[in-house]
Amino acid sequence: MGVVRYPVECPGCEGEILLRLAVGLDERQPFFYICPTCKAATRGALLWDGGVGTSLELADGRVLDSEHNGMIALHINPDIPAIADAKSMMQPEGSATIFFSCLIGAERLDHFFTRSRDFRSLVKSDWLKLQRLTTYYLNRDWLHFDRIIAEYTPEQPSSVPEALRREDQFHRLLSLFFAPIWTFDERKPFVVMKASFNGIWNPNCQHSAEVSEFAKSEVASEYFTAVQRDLFEHLNRYVQLVGGLLPGLLCDMIPQEKQDEVDRLRLFRDDYEQIRDLYVQVFESCHKALRWVVGTVLCANHGTPDAFAKVSASIPGKHRTPSSIDRYTELPSAEKRKWLALIPEWNDAWDPLLDRSLRNDFGHASARHDLPTGLIQRHEGKPLAYTRMVQLAQRILQPLLACTNVMKILRIAAAIT
Ligand SMILES: [Zn+2]
Repeated sequence: MGVVRYPVECPGCEGEILLRLAVGLDERQPFFYICPTCKAATRGALLWDGGVGTSLELADGRVLDSEHNGMIALHINPDIPAIADAKSMMQPEGSATIFFSCLIGAERLDHFFTRSRDFRSLVKSDWLKLQRLTTYYLNRDWLHFDRIIAEYTPEQPSSVPEALRREDQFHRLLSLFFAPIWTFDERKPFVVMKASFNGIWNPNCQHSAEVSEFAKSEVASEYFTAVQRDLFEHLNRYVQLVGGLLPGLLCDMIPQEKQDEVDRLRLFRDDYEQIRDLYVQVFESCHKALRWVVGTVLCANHGTPDAFAKVSASIPGKHRTPSSIDRYTELPSAEKRKWLALIPEWNDAWDPLLDRSLRNDFGHASARHDLPTGLIQRHEGKPLAYTRMVQLAQRILQPLLACTNVMKILRIAAAIT
């Protein structure tokens, strides 16, 4: 990864600044810089032609013809969080790459870049096609669906029921597509949640007939299709925002004993509003999907998805006990979440992946990203570092995939029993 130099003039104080911009992984890299003299923030984008050529877009101010000695240099890497006040490239923290190599190890950083590149090339080559496939899947348009899926997966023995084959191939493709990212979390919460949910579908289960009935009636509802559609749409937005989210994955790779560093790191790109909107929507959709997680557990153990009163005593703390799965669906997310105590793997994984206090911060119109300080100014409480926010936000991929798996299993159960 190279560095390009652009001398610019600050639109506020007309001070001359030398921007040293790291060429990252995207053709268009949005960034901003803070003028060291007047502290004004200016947005721009580095356009990379994929070879040696780059050009600069600035929202304000102008690019100067030449640089000269004594210009203040700013080092900006829109893909890697860095120390903001590093004075020169001669300090280890002057280069975001070297600094991060020290934090997480050169090999792991390398690995991160390889995977990030792999993912971006997958997006380029296949994502539009996968989206068409998703549309056909949702529309139950098997004629077009089968044509595309055949390009990806070998033919399966005809003994496999069609409905099972289609669900399986489609979701396998989705999880493979996102594998360069979700496999980074060593605890692999998506896999843990998937395995624990799939484990409930045991044909020897005493109430397997009731579980199938539950699946059938749920899958036939408009609500089910709407939530499933939303989950896929969130995955699409995750893909569109991946350049802004992946620096957060790097923060997650920092060892536990150095995690405090995340609050002092800066990232010179701003995707605050898009990340906020996506986070809030994913948070809500995943909590809606709990209807099918909790409903399935109740059904498998007690023969009805309405058995809340029977298990209420095993839910710790103060909680409301709905009279039926429909009443459960009307509960606020915080109340819905308490019932995950019925499925320990989900209970353990949930909160770090879907952070309630971040979701609440995002809900306040007054919360905003202050570019000069790199802090999210919150409605109440201490401001939150933008890097910390991105770190928390990128984790939504795991529950999103886990919830799409839940819907898949219900669809299979409804179709083959
Ligand atoms: Zn200035």
